[in-house]
Amino acid sequence: MDVSEPLSEILATTSRHLKSLAEIGITRVADLLNYFPRKYVDFSAPKKFSELLPNEEATVVGTIQNLKTFRTPRGRTIVSARLISAEGGLNLTWFNQTFVARILRNGDEIAISGKIQIGLRGAMTLVGGSFEKISDEMIHAGRIVPIYRTHGKLISAKWLREKIFPLLDYSAQLPNLLGELTPELTRGLTVETATTVKNLLPRGEAIRQIHFPDSFAKLESARATLAFEELFLLQLSALRRKLDWQIGAAGSARKILAPQNFLEEFATTLPFKFTAAQKKASAEILADLQKDLPMNRLLEGDVGSGKTIVAALAIFLAAKNNCQATLLAPTEILAAQHFRNFLKILHPLGIRGELLTGSIPAAKKKDIAAKLKSGALDLIVGTHALLESKIDFQNLGLAVIDEQHRFGVEQRTLIRKNGTPHVLSLTATPIPRTLALTIFGDQDVSIIDEMPPGRIPPITKIVPKNKRVEAERWIESEVAKGRQVFIVCPLVEESEVLEIKSAKKEFERLSKKVFPQLKLGLLHGKMRPKEKDAAMAAFAAGEIQILVATTVIEVGIDVANATIMLIEAAERFGLAQLHQLRGRVGRGSQQSYCFLFSEADSEEAQSRLHALEKISSGFELAKIDLQNRGPGEVFGVRQSGIPDLKIAKLTDHDLIKKSRELGQEILAADSLLKNFPEILKKLEEMDERRENN
Ligand code: ADP
Ligand code: MG
Repeated sequence: MDVSEPLSEILATTSRHLKSLAEIGITRVADLLNYFPRKYVDFSAPKKFSELLPNEEATVVGTIQNLKTFRTPRGRTIVSARLISAEGGLNLTWFNQTFVARILRNGDEIAISGKIQIGLRGAMTLVGGSFEKISDEMIHAGRIVPIYRTHGKLISAKWLREKIFPLLDYSAQLPNLLGELTPELTRGLTVETATTVKNLLPRGEAIRQIHFPDSFAKLESARATLAFEELFLLQLSALRRKLDWQIGAAGSARKILAPQNFLEEFATTLPFKFTAAQKKASAEILADLQKDLPMNRLLEGDVGSGKTIVAALAIFLAAKNNCQATLLAPTEILAAQHFRNFLKILHPLGIRGELLTGSIPAAKKKDIAAKLKSGALDLIVGTHALLESKIDFQNLGLAVIDEQHRFGVEQRTLIRKNGTPHVLSLTATPIPRTLALTIFGDQDVSIIDEMPPGRIPPITKIVPKNKRVEAERWIESEVAKGRQVFIVCPLVEESEVLEIKSAKKEFERLSKKVFPQLKLGLLHGKMRPKEKDAAMAAFAAGEIQILVATTVIEVGIDVANATIMLIEAAERFGLAQLHQLRGRVGRGSQQSYCFLFSEADSEEAQSRLHALEKISSGFELAKIDLQNRGPGEVFGVRQSGIPDLKIAKLTDHDLIKKSRELGQEILAADSLLKNFPEILKKLEEMDERRENN
């Protein structure tokens, strides 16, 4: 038997189950073995009620009685029950987690873990516990039991436990990538890293322990092993790309030199002072530009943090060095907006620029192309159209790419075709440095983590269900004062089609029932670029008062008069995504607002959204979410192109550092990975996936 065997050959189950599994990408034995538990419940050593101490986390076992749901005068919903065992009873309480009452029944035998508190009348109470029903649902009930993410009606945690357990014997056959590391290789490592590598479990054992751990210590070793492997592959993949770039492009870029005090002198042409963060990022860019190794740098900063001016500085310097520059933007609207902003700054300094997008007439395009070729233009701002048309530069020295993940491979084509210019990518996605270095390790990163002074931050409010109508009437009155509104429809990460369907429905409902007297527009991802641009343009021109949109609302779009952002089902978004949506408003001089509508009443969801009310830094918000969720989930794979980490966490600083060290060591010893065929195979698979999305 073989781990690449289709599950249909091996599992005793129905075709409906198999189909359901295939929906989440599980078709082979190996896929199921790589479907790791989401969490664990410790049934190995339940505590006696008499041993419980206040403020401690504990797991106890018993039978549910007296299950009740009620509301407090202050509007909180409480579920309470009594847990009975041979020893006596214990109170259970859940705040704002009404779903508990739907899942549990009196008489259910459960194991429950949570924090012990002193409740009413001094009684020990377990608050907000997570629980699992016992009985035939458990495999080996007296152990640490894995809880899996469920899918649909059929793929339950119980079902997964039953099916995965007998497959564990196959786990020894999974490729043991880290097993390819030789003692000679690890000799070059620091003692700490070598020790970590030595203590990794064999892969088969790690897989066994991650599913059905013998102890929490074993679980931790298994997690560390698999997380190390995951991080190591990401790092190695990024390091390989960087090496390729350095070898392939060394000496090929034009040195763009800055005169003494260039930064200070450029600053005197501006109506404001650079923030410290802008100065630092600028200095990093200037240092890159003077080398003949092409720059490959990502400039990150919140919406409105002032990335444009930093990019403009680089473009200006390129022109002073007789190099041309290009700026690529993902949509016509953004390209046009950038063009206006750049020219405002650069035109007075003598920079000659043009805009090239799909809707520019052919004759004009030809004229622009001729000027670019002859060197009569210093800057060309444009969209994909730049990539498609026959554009030749006289000498391209610098390419600035806005929201680079939206371009994929085409941008590389443009850049390669025109020699190897310095590349500066801009993004408003607040990716913490550790993540950026792990996932985009081939790029250097500059971060602008400070806002220019004097902004009026948006007021953010969670709107409970019973205040919805009130909020809608208030929006109406604001529109009457001339303001404009974004309404963002619920995110459906699994299916854009479903998302668009629900957005269309919502648009109908809002147009007919809620705001019949106002002008509404619709914007979603499956509209053609022209239609999208038309909708955005109508909104920017004030012809539309409320724009109903899916999450495609253009990052970076600037409509000063839009002051209200309303987000439906806000709990489905990562905090960083919510923050970016919020960044669409608050660009003018008026007070702006962000309303978060949410149906989720779990404490966790509420407290996440609450963070958004209090915190205005995108980086802070991303960090909060990244402690509990994978990066793909936090930033949205679809919006950001950032893949998820399966098991590693960004808080694994130690593992990140060590895996990077190992990656560097391997490449130094064997840059083609000739002696690491399984690792190489895996990396090639990863590269292929990158190219394809
Ligand atoms: P980003 O591209 O990072 O979203 P922009 O570069 O568009 O942000 O800057 C937003 C606004 O802030 C622009 O109007 C810009 O002129 C202004 N701005 C940029 N830097 C500063 C600064 N240091 N002080 C004051 N205003 C600034
Ligand atoms: Mg911008």
